[in-house]
Amino acid sequence: MSDSDGKKTLGLRGGPRSGQVKQSFSHGRTKNVVVETKRKRVVVPKPGAGKPGAAQGGQGKAGGVTDSEMERRLKALQAAKAREADEAKQRAEDERRREEERKRRREEIEAKEREEKERAERARQKAEDDERKRKEEAEARKREAEERKKAVLGTKGRNASKPEPKKPADKKPAPTPADAQAAEAGAGTRSGGPKPSQRRDRDGQDKDRNRGKGKGGDGRRSGKLTLNQALSGGDGRQRSVAAMKRKQERLRQKAMSGSNEPREKVVRDVQVPEAIVVSELANRMAERVADVVKELMKMGMMVTQNQSIDQDTAELIIEEFGHNIVRVSDADVEDVIDTVEDKEEDLQPRPPVITIMGHVDHGKTSLLDAIRDAKVVAGEAGGITQHIGAYQVTTDSGTVLSFLDTPGHAAFTSMRARGAQVTDIVVLVVAADDSVMPQTIEAINHSKAAGVPMIVAINKCDKPTADPMKVRTELLQHEVIVEAMSGEVQDVEVSAHTGQGLDELLEAIALQSEILELKANPTRAASGAVIEAQLDVGRGPVATVLVQNGTLRQGDIFVVGEQWGKVRALVNDKGDRVQEAGPSVPVEVLGLNGTPEAGDVLNVVDTEAQAREIADYRIQAAKDKRAAAGAATTLDQMMAKAKADENVAELPLIVKADVQGSAEAIVQAMEKIGNDEVRVRVIHTGVGAITESDVGLAEASSAPVMGFNVRANAPARNAANQKGVEIRYYSVIYDLVDDVKAAASGLLSAEIRENFIGYAEIKEVFKVSGVGKVAGCIVTEGVARRSAGVRLLRDNVVIHEGTLKTLKRFKDEVAEVQSGQECGMAFENYDDIRPADVIEIFEREEIERKLD
Ligand code: GDP
Repeated sequence: MSDSDGKKTLGLRGGPRSGQVKQSFSHGRTKNVVVETKRKRVVVPKPGAGKPGAAQGGQGKAGGVTDSEMERRLKALQAAKAREADEAKQRAEDERRREEERKRRREEIEAKEREEKERAERARQKAEDDERKRKEEAEARKREAEERKKAVLGTKGRNASKPEPKKPADKKPAPTPADAQAAEAGAGTRSGGPKPSQRRDRDGQDKDRNRGKGKGGDGRRSGKLTLNQALSGGDGRQRSVAAMKRKQERLRQKAMSGSNEPREKVVRDVQVPEAIVVSELANRMAERVADVVKELMKMGMMVTQNQSIDQDTAELIIEEFGHNIVRVSDADVEDVIDTVEDKEEDLQPRPPVITIMGHVDHGKTSLLDAIRDAKVVAGEAGGITQHIGAYQVTTDSGTVLSFLDTPGHAAFTSMRARGAQVTDIVVLVVAADDSVMPQTIEAINHSKAAGVPMIVAINKCDKPTADPMKVRTELLQHEVIVEAMSGEVQDVEVSAHTGQGLDELLEAIALQSEILELKANPTRAASGAVIEAQLDVGRGPVATVLVQNGTLRQGDIFVVGEQWGKVRALVNDKGDRVQEAGPSVPVEVLGLNGTPEAGDVLNVVDTEAQAREIADYRIQAAKDKRAAAGAATTLDQMMAKAKADENVAELPLIVKADVQGSAEAIVQAMEKIGNDEVRVRVIHTGVGAITESDVGLAEASSAPVMGFNVRANAPARNAANQKGVEIRYYSVIYDLVDDVKAAASGLLSAEIRENFIGYAEIKEVFKVSGVGKVAGCIVTEGVARRSAGVRLLRDNVVIHEGTLKTLKRFKDEVAEVQSGQECGMAFENYDDIRPADVIEIFEREEIERKLD
């Protein structure tokens, strides 16, 4: 190679030789090249000189050294040129294809836009029609109502409200036009105001211009042939591509060296969401990606075209290129969620939602149970209540109340933290024998912070040691002045045990709710809040939703937090399937694609596509947020973080629990553990069995996995063994908290630890008179020991924990059954066993703890 280079230089020095060389290109085109003028180029296409195999092969024709050399050089040149031309052609061909693709896309966009405009127009028309119709209907309704009023006026005052509940039925036909009208009105405003569709229009035009300009923006000048024209026109193929390329090069150079012809710059309105991929930004500005990347580099940002930059950075770039930024929010996908204010006339009274709060052991659960037992069981036929996280009762005076069945502050606060304020009234339970305690004060602060009115239930008044007056006086110190102390806050003396004062309490709540004048519009698309969610065996993800506005119906499509779905079934607090649920009604919703979290907001939307789009957007947004929180962006932050890391020992944890409520409670408890030196960090929490991915995450972050009433599935167990990940199981939150506390503070004393000694699977269930249900099992792992503790697992969720009443091998009572053998087992005081359930057999031992 160096040899040929040397010779080439030699040849050049030898002086110019002129001559014509016939170049042949692929596709049978030929061209004459004047060698002399081109000779200088010999130096240029160095790569050509590097591998001129073809050229070398054809050597040796001429006689003289110089001549043969010349010949060779010419051949080399020829080959190089041919290659160059081929490459250029290939590039042009690619460009042409790209251009075609762009054109096609543009046409698509145009078509879509047209369609959209038409649709908007139609929607507007329809909205107008509907509006007219609605007005007419409203008129008719009003007239009707007036007539009814006249008719009803004769009856008793209380009954006057009776027709009310029937109203939704009367109004049945109304919802559709009203809803449609609302939706259409939305569409109308959107196309009217500076809203997405218009933005889309503008965007579309931008793209048009953009496409029109294409890569040949530089060649757009008067009379000159643009690359576009050249390539799309039929004669484009006839033109020498190399010439085209040269021309382009010339133009580019001219442009770069600041040509005197000013580039007419199209100033664009560039839409930028909260984060935008660099290539997309370039596309929207109709600038070259490379230029944008370069510009970013100048600003000190090393990014590739596939990375995202934030809105502010994008703004700098856009300004740099002389365009205008139009900030849009990705959240626009959420615009389809109906947020139209309800009209006063659509609003109807709704039941209040009540949360019971108070210090531990002051009787919150007992009170909830007492109210339910007194009101629901007695009132309903069948009367089996189902725990779905909330229930409704009707007071003697006919007011319906919705109670949240998850007492305590954790649920209340975590829901509020997520923006779901569902509670209208707080019942503060204070035990008359214990008076105001720390969590009582906490509860007072919570309800004050949320601006929720309070009613004080002084509980355990049946006890001889009860001192209700003490409670009232102590509450004064916390600025809760009850009515008995001539304040505003209602107080009722109750006993969850004897039922004393329960009716009074319910009436107090009813009165309070009347004062609040709670209203909602049952005719609109439903929105609500998740108060509990879990992955149910057999039913899939199930969420208890408290409808807050509108009416949720079977078949509705919804988005809830980062999940979406279509209502497959609704189950009320009595366990009955229902077709719909109106404001303040709690229902179990089936048909979700994943398990949402307590506090997530549910919104009904029109189409599955919308629901999916919103859910996807939220997932992405959450991811971005986490990434943003995790990445220390500036050095200052980084240093601060490093410093913090240095001083604070972190104990990372992964928490898996059987229900969302427990998971939240654990996380909250964990967050409270720690001081300046040590902190607990829950890196992941979830509902359901511990999976391999949990173990993977645990390994990656050197964290133990805490299972609360859940177990690891087999692959996860294996993975944990392999990777040395610690999995701990708990069924009492306090135990978990205590353990973590101990670990966190380094107080690792000896502890009672459970060892799993075996697993058995239930094959059959027999009924044996005198004994009850007996499980016919096979020991699948380890041993079953009569003396050991047992747990019943159904789908890796703990259903029961206790001891064995009997362990039989054939007919004999035995102490131990080995793996692989069949046996009969029955639980002490527990009967709900089913085939395919798994029995976990464990023993407790005292061991030295090591959790670091
Ligand atoms: P929570 O922790 O606030 O939910 O309290 P619980 O409802 O679990 O009650 C704690 C204890 O107080 C239980 O042993 C109940 O039996 C008892 N308890 C609850 N209400 C009453 C009551 O009205 N009278 C009496 N004597 N005991 C009660």
